[in-house]
Amino acid sequence: MSNQETWHETLHDHFGQYFTVDNVLYQETTGQQDLVIFENAAMGRVMALDGIVQTTERDEFIYHEMMAHVPLIAHGNAKKVLIIGGGDGGILREVSRHPGVDQITIAEIDAAVVTFCKKYLPRHNAGAFDDPRFTLVIADGVDFISQSSEKFDVIISDCTDPIGPGKSLFTSDFYQGCARCLNQDGIFVAQNGVCFLQQDEAVNSHLKLRHHFSDVSFYQAAVPTYYGGIMTFAWASQNPALRHLDTATLAACIDKTELICRYYNAAIHNGSFALPQYLLNALSVSR
Ligand code: SAM
Repeated sequence: MSNQETWHETLHDHFGQYFTVDNVLYQETTGQQDLVIFENAAMGRVMALDGIVQTTERDEFIYHEMMAHVPLIAHGNAKKVLIIGGGDGGILREVSRHPGVDQITIAEIDAAVVTFCKKYLPRHNAGAFDDPRFTLVIADGVDFISQSSEKFDVIISDCTDPIGPGKSLFTSDFYQGCARCLNQDGIFVAQNGVCFLQQDEAVNSHLKLRHHFSDVSFYQAAVPTYYGGIMTFAWASQNPALRHLDTATLAACIDKTELICRYYNAAIHNGSFALPQYLLNALSVSR
């Protein structure tokens, strides 16, 4: 791809988005996926894998704040956090803002994503890759989980869509392994697609997660470059109370953590668990 071209996302066959390419910063077919990072006048620097937008400088904060702070504030006392995928460092940046967390591990399948997001998307990690609490493991998340004897308080699956290497992160085996690797009152969250266009993703995750967790639901946020409506995040734990915290309790925990966010707040936290009726109907049918 060269400068002044137009890059078209290939996630959907009959509907999509495009970006004008002002400057190609890096592109490579890694051992795992096709990686490209380019500059766009509207969204800043954009990173795509296998033809699908992963993150943009302009709207990444919405997704990364919601994937990190909803489970961590709900948990209230997380010490050990595991991030599956997340090679761009955005989730790591937000998790590292929680002073009570003392160990953060990333299991990322593609070292090139880490290397070139560090170089070309430095504001995503904002120095968090140098946090002494952080350990990077280059591995398939499924293998990491199946071989791990560690226990975590929060597991965040910041993976690609269920195509290519990301497919294995939407399996019952992976979810079972995550359930095994969580401490008591542990929370699992995962990016689960834009439910208006990828409803099957949420329905299938819900079906599989329910075999391994007693409380399974979703929360949501609209992230512009995950176009087509709200992005759903899978939520799973063994303690339903973790999903029903009053706003005052959440606000107190946010204040104690001294979190200043651009999207996330206590009202957004609770409001994000409100789901559209069409999704609720699809989930109830799939019981
Ligand atoms: N925010 C994006 C989204 O919602 O689609 C995800 C971005 S993050 C960069 C996705 C990461 O998952 C990539 O770095 C990719 O290499 C990684 N990944 C894909 N499959 C994986 C697997 N099986 N194990 C570990 N990491 C994986």
